[in-house]
Amino acid sequence: MPTFVYMTRCDGCGHCVDICPSDIMHIDTTHRRAFNIEPNMCWECYSCVKACPQNAIDCRGYSDFAPMGHSVRVLREEEKGTVSWKLKFRDGREKNFESPIRTTPWGSIKSADDYAAPTKEALQSQELAHEPDALNIDELPALKPDQLKLGVV
Ligand code: SF4
Ligand code: SF4
Repeated sequence: MPTFVYMTRCDGCGHCVDICPSDIMHIDTTHRRAFNIEPNMCWECYSCVKACPQNAIDCRGYSDFAPMGHSVRVLREEEKGTVSWKLKFRDGREKNFESPIRTTPWGSIKSADDYAAPTKEALQSQELAHEPDALNIDELPALKPDQLKLGVV
């Protein structure tokens, strides 16, 4: 279900390029409009669709996601704090869903450069970078040795 861009709506802002986890949204250097350079690599994550301020991106609903051949439109409205989904079936029926935006504000996530370099001990630890502090917990939940059963057949 790869994305495609309505060229007449796109203004070339590049938000879709910045957010795509697959790095497949690019700006055409001649026309200054975004396009999907590798549809087969699209995760169908809808991040670019939600991020586009011009509502210029849509997805083709392949049968894994839209088995009835229906269209799926997604709209992220910052001022209302919602993401709404509109499913339109071929017989004219519609289903509408709305959920709150749960992501952090645009540009508020620190980059790796904003953190101190990991210590030698941290590199040898089984914890991921900035765990457990970044999770706002004192320690990661894990089984203690006395909670394990030895010799279970
Ligand atoms: Fe990239 Fe996701 Fe958009 Fe596909 S749906 S082009 S993976 S951001
Ligand atoms: Fe075009 Fe939307 Fe991508 Fe901006 S986010 S470049 S308007 S498709």
